[in-house]
Amino acid sequence: MGRRPRGDPETSPIAGTMTASVKTADAVVIGGGIMGASAAHFLAKRGFGRLVLLEKGRLAGVSTGHSAAIVRTYYSNPITLELAKRALHMFENDRDLLGGDGGFRPIGFLLLIGERLRAAGEHILESERRHGLHVERLGVKEVAELAPPVSLDGVSYGILEPRSGYADPTRTTENLVAAARPWGLEPRPGVAATGVRLHGDRVVAVETEDGTIATNVVVNAAGPWAGQVGSWLGLRYSLRWSRESDLFVEKPAGFGDLPVVSDPGLRVYLRPCGDDRIIAGLGAPKDIEPVDPDDCDPALDPEMRARIERPLFQRIPALANARHLGGYASLYTITDDWHPIVGPEPGLEGYYAFFGGSGHGFKLGPPIGEALADVICGEPPEIDLSPFRPARFIDGEPLTSAWGEGNRG
Ligand SMILES: Cc1cc2nc3c(=O)[nH]c(=O)nc-3n(C[C@H](O)[C@H](O)[C@H](O)COP(=O)(O)OP(=O)(O)OC[C@H]3O[C@@H](n4cnc5c(N)ncnc54)[C@H](O)[C@@H]3O)c2cc1C
Repeated sequence: MGRRPRGDPETSPIAGTMTASVKTADAVVIGGGIMGASAAHFLAKRGFGRLVLLEKGRLAGVSTGHSAAIVRTYYSNPITLELAKRALHMFENDRDLLGGDGGFRPIGFLLLIGERLRAAGEHILESERRHGLHVERLGVKEVAELAPPVSLDGVSYGILEPRSGYADPTRTTENLVAAARPWGLEPRPGVAATGVRLHGDRVVAVETEDGTIATNVVVNAAGPWAGQVGSWLGLRYSLRWSRESDLFVEKPAGFGDLPVVSDPGLRVYLRPCGDDRIIAGLGAPKDIEPVDPDDCDPALDPEMRARIERPLFQRIPALANARHLGGYASLYTITDDWHPIVGPEPGLEGYYAFFGGSGHGFKLGPPIGEALADVICGEPPEIDLSPFRPARFIDGEPLTSAWGEGNRG
């Protein structure tokens, strides 16, 4: 468990070698996606002191800003169920708990279950209920009433999370950062971290493109570049990257309302995007599209467009003639069990990992950030994060899922 650092960074052994431009901070967070913004927000809210958030580009500029930002609670592990439950509460109360209106739209989340996934569906219903989440089992007639454009071909029943929905990922991230400024957070967009200095086994400074920041606490929330940040400290993480795309189509006239729809059988998900568009992407289980994070073409390619459209039009035939409105590609950062790596590294004082959300890390960012802030402050978090500890793989305790491998969790 991490501890609040002892001593003043300015009197640490390297301080004497620093130039007058050296700044000090009580903690430095590397990465301005949802994970870094959440860690910084909740540390600041706890009164941790002077905090710097380094973001080499712009806030939410990589995976977070391209997230479909679906906030749903169907998970199959106690930790992810509890975190998703907390996330839903946070998004429902975003003005009080996430620093402002993050555009959360609680339009409901509908999971379509076919014969092949019946057992996984029953497991989800039972798990969600056991964790106090409101979830409804819908017959096909009720699915048709709730979501008229959905073809019922191959659907045995639906699982509805009436409170779930989606948020605006960029606005959520920006809110978390802006709200924390009066509490001591200094965001530094456009400034990359370039190194972390140790004295013995203790973090003493973060090097940046714009000088050195003396600090005893660093949070690695560098998303796709978290492995690079870890390597500065001699840490090696097993990470893979996948190029993930979403596309937009215009809502046809008279289309009506839809909840978020996820079809694990056809492996597609979709949701409204504002009032006049639908956003859709390929659902789990995923085929990884390997990519170098430094060389990820952000354009939707024609082959991927066709792969998304095929199941999308099968499930929502009314979209087949709708106007295509473009799309994009971004990055999943994937750990060996598709769950984030979070927490301290034994033997390395002042370093905390917080990355690897694959395709489900947006909603989990704020509740994990809240719990990690407790850990950094030396207090037990309400939700125990130890199942996400970096060493779980060598301990032989990766997380598993009722859905098999992938980001459903
Ligand atoms: C297409 C797509 C759809 C998705 N849909 C959903 C969904 O519906 N629901 C859901 O919950 N999740 C979803 N996700 C997953 C979710 O978006 C990610 O898990 C989450 O955004 C990861 O956040 P992050 O902060 O770890 O990474 P990022 O958002 O990538 O942020 C990391 C940041 O670190 C910065 N950085 C890196 N190195 C440095 C450095 N040296 N110095 C300074 N800054 C640095 C980067 O510039 C970047 O901005 C989706 C993802 C994608 C790609």
